[in-house]
Amino acid sequence: MPETPEPSIFTRIVRREIPATIVAETDRVIAFTDIAPKAPVHLLVVPKTEQYANVVELAAGDPGLLAEVVEVANQLAAEHSDGDFRLIFNTGAGAGQTVFHVHAHVLSGDLQEGSLA
Ligand code: 5GP
Repeated sequence: MPETPEPSIFTRIVRREIPATIVAETDRVIAFTDIAPKAPVHLLVVPKTEQYANVVELAAGDPGLLAEVVEVANQLAAEHSDGDFRLIFNTGAGAGQTVFHVHAHVLSGDLQEGSLA
């Protein structure tokens, strides 16, 4: 029997198997605070499906879902800060990606020049 892959940490948040501070949710997207914030506002916006490992796969496979991620990020930056934000998709381990379930970092609020997630 082939082994069933372990669900990603973000799928476990979607399923409420582990706690998170959820700040937005739609049918296809969930957003919550990052457990190790790198900015005054540091949120993660995540497609509920874990079928896309990174933003390149998401853009190719479901551009509408990518657009929804961007729209939720925009709304959250307006709600949680002054509306200006950085949207970061770490892509590949060499770029700092540690969770291979695509997610956008939304950084906002008193960002230091040059600071990145
Ligand atoms: P990456 O390094 O893959 O771009 O980003 C993964 C992000 O997920 C990191 O910023 C990390 O702090 C966050 N993270 C990892 N595990 C958890 C968790 O269990 N809960 C929350 N809220 N964030 C997490």
